[in-house]
Amino acid sequence: MSETIFDKIIDRSIPADILYEDELALAFSDINPQAPVHFLVIPKRRIATVNDIGMDDREVVGHLYWVAAHIAEQRGIADEGFRTVMNCNEFGGQTVYHIHLHVLGGKPLGWPPY
Ligand code: 5GP
Repeated sequence: MSETIFDKIIDRSIPADILYEDELALAFSDINPQAPVHFLVIPKRRIATVNDIGMDDREVVGHLYWVAAHIAEQRGIADEGFRTVMNCNEFGGQTVYHIHLHVLGGKPLGWPPY
């Protein structure tokens, strides 16, 4: 599997505003925020798309949501609410092929998202 820009963020060869790290996951601010709070939570081990999530990935994928809520609490957006989105492939709007949970908040968000 080829590297993406997120591997370079994981290994610190490019800078990012890192918000959280543990053995399974990394969270950092999105470089092009779409809301007052917009960060990404990624697994350290690359999974290309949602379609590639296997049975063995259940723990790490669930963990991404725990990290999302943990940081949302720290950022003060947990009670008012926020959105988590994981885009998949072209029609889903995916541009980086290393799964990532977008966490958006800090204002009321519209729905549907188009
Ligand atoms: P996707 O379109 O794949 O769902 O989302 C990719 C996200 O990664 C976008 O929101 C984009 O702004 C963000 N992104 C792309 N390159 C970088 C980067 O080098 N650093 C950071 N922090 N975010 C990035």
